Amino acid sequence: MNNDIEISVRSPAAYALAGEALRLMQDHGVWPTPLNYEIWLYVAGDPECPLAQEIQRLVAAGETITEDISESLASKFIARLKLNDEVRDAGLKLTRELASITEVIVEAQKAQKTYGETLEGARKSMSEVEAVALKSLIDSLTEATTTVLDHHSLLEGRLSESSREVNRLRKHLDQVRMEAMTDALTNLANRKSFDEALDRHCENDDISSPLTLAVIDIDHFKRFNDTWGHQTGDQVLRYVASVLARIGRPPRLAARYGGEEFGLLFPGETCDTVERLLNEARSEIASRVLKRRSTNEDLGTVTISAGIAQREYAEDSFDLLDRADKALYTSKNNGRNKVTIAESLKTDSNAA
Ligand code: GH3
Ligand code: MG
Ligand code: MG
Repeated sequence: MNNDIEISVRSPAAYALAGEALRLMQDHGVWPTPLNYEIWLYVAGDPECPLAQEIQRLVAAGETITEDISESLASKFIARLKLNDEVRDAGLKLTRELASITEVIVEAQKAQKTYGETLEGARKSMSEVEAVALKSLIDSLTEATTTVLDHHSLLEGRLSESSREVNRLRKHLDQVRMEAMTDALTNLANRKSFDEALDRHCENDDISSPLTLAVIDIDHFKRFNDTWGHQTGDQVLRYVASVLARIGRPPRLAARYGGEEFGLLFPGETCDTVERLLNEARSEIASRVLKRRSTNEDLGTVTISAGIAQREYAEDSFDLLDRADKALYTSKNNGRNKVTIAESLKTDSNAA
């Protein structure tokens, strides 16, 4: 990415550039989030740059610039991604802190060694000295002890300061890690986090504890977006996510799998329980008449379709997802607004 933009945002042209970035975001129906602002600032600053050309290509192909697309554009074209910066900075600070602790410990070890040598010297001279020389010997021992104690209290102070700093950095890293696993639009877990959890569960071959997976997709969502606009579509995504979040509380996991698709994991639960829960969520969503907040305009209803698969013995995450996906497509083919339980693997292999 060129450096001109870095200069332009600190020049008299900056406000015109910012205005243009906002106008472009509005024209393309994207929210002015910090990430989008950065993307569109680059586009406004250099409409011929590779990022701008890629956006032109996507728009010409009829693609909507969703949050997922923005994130992948940013990671591809803007090397300096905030998240990476934060992880790197926190990592550097942690390394620096540990190096300084090591220095203090080495210093303390040196002082301890000198103290030991002084004591050893004193022990040897004790046998040879006269009583008059004893006072100077005791003086030198007292001085050595004071030096060691000073070093110890310095070490104590530095260690507690460092441990406060390390704790602060650890919390910051936890926060950054959490953000990296969360979907920004809906606040649900993101696909990466869901895939990791699914893989973890599928490594376990304990058949006494079932695992059920559900995939959910909003019906005719393209039509909804086309009718009411992408930003209103985003509000609907948030609404559906909030209903799914309620049934996906830990130890379950609810995630936005991408676009208008969601994934739910139900460790320790069978497909019958999950079918009941999803049918409740499905009818709750279908019965709600949506309104546009700003104008109170009636937007009609949206529906969801779902596919459910309970893991069979030694089934891997890929096959489990595949069965749930097929069940989802059965729901779609049977008229949508449906929940379908997947075919069992045994049935599949019998049929083959
Ligand atoms: P189906 O019932 O078969 O699932 O139809 P559909 O229209 O929901 O499915 P299709 O795959 O044709 O279109 C999905 C649409 O979801 C296209 C896109 O506009 C919309 N979409 C994907 N991600 C987002 C997003 O982040 N925000 C908004 N508002 N819409 C999104
Ligand atoms: Mg879909
Ligand atoms: Mg859909």
